[in-house]
Amino acid sequence: MSTSTAAAVELAGVEKTFGDVHALSGIDLTIGAGEFVSMIGPSGCGKSTLLRVVADLEQPTAGTVAIGGKSPHQARLDQDYGIAFQQAGLLEWRTVAENVELPLHVHGVDKVQRRARAAELLELVGLADFAASRPSQLSGGMQQRVAIARALAPSPRLLLMDEPFGALDEMTRERMQAELLRIARETGAAVLFVTHSIPEAVVLADRVVIMSPRPGRITEIVAGRRPGAAAAADLDPDEVDDVRESGAFFAAITAVREALRKGHEL
Ligand code: ADP
Ligand code: MG
Repeated sequence: MSTSTAAAVELAGVEKTFGDVHALSGIDLTIGAGEFVSMIGPSGCGKSTLLRVVADLEQPTAGTVAIGGKSPHQARLDQDYGIAFQQAGLLEWRTVAENVELPLHVHGVDKVQRRARAAELLELVGLADFAASRPSQLSGGMQQRVAIARALAPSPRLLLMDEPFGALDEMTRERMQAELLRIARETGAAVLFVTHSIPEAVVLADRVVIMSPRPGRITEIVAGRRPGAAAAADLDPDEVDDVRESGAFFAAITAVREALRKGHEL
C-alpha cells in the first residue's frame, strides 16, 4: 500500500479509438483518495472502455493515466486496484473462500494468511457462513458480494466497478448499494463505479460524472448524495433509505437527468 497522498486516479487528455470508432475524447478526471465517483452515460459512450484503460486492459490512444501516482501497468502488478463486473465471474470448482483467495494466491501469499484474509472479507460482506459453499449454491446478490470480497482481497486503494449490480432485482440492488457504501467506508478505498441507473449513480457517489454519446466526453459533473461520506461512524442502512427519500436526492436525480439530456443534444 502506498503512503503517498497521490490521487486515486488521474486522467489527462485521454483519447481512445478502435479503428474508425472514436470511443473516448479528451477525458480529464481526478478521483481523490477515498472518493466515490459514479459514471453514467448512454450505452456505447465508452464507460467500459474508460474503466478498461484505467485497469491497464486497454492502452489509451493519447493522454496519460496514473493510479496512485503509478502507471496502470505498475498498479496492476502491485494489485493496487480491484475490479468487479456485471457477472460475478466466480470459479465453480472452487469454494467461496477459495474464490476470494484467488488474487492472493496469484500474488504468492501463503495459505494461512490467505485463509485468514478470506475469512475476514467474507465476514465484511456478510457471508462468513458460506466459506465452504460452491458459487452455484448462492443467490445472484450473494455471488456479487463474493466478487466484491475477491476484489478487496489485496486491500486495494481503488475499486473499479462496471455495472456490478445490473443483473440484480431492484430490492437486492438497493441492499447491495448500502452494503457497498459501508464497505467503501470501512476500507477507505476510492471507487469508480459505472452504472446506467440514475438513482444508483446519485445515491452512491460523492460526484456523478456524466458522459455524452460517442465519442464519450465528460459533459458535466454533478454532486452525488453519498450519505455521511466524511463521517467515520459505521453506516446505518436506514441512513441510505433516508437519503433515497430526501428532497436533495430527487434534486440530484433531476440534475443528472438534465445533464444527460443536454449531453444528447450536443
Ligand atoms: P459502454 O460501456 O459505455 O456501453 P463501451 O466502452 O463498451 O461503451 O464501448 C464504446 C465504443 O467502443 C462502442 O462503440 C464499442 O463498440 C467500441 N468498442 C469497445 N471495445 C472495442 C474493441 N475492443 N474493439 C472495437 N470497438 C470497441
Ligand atoms: Mg459497458
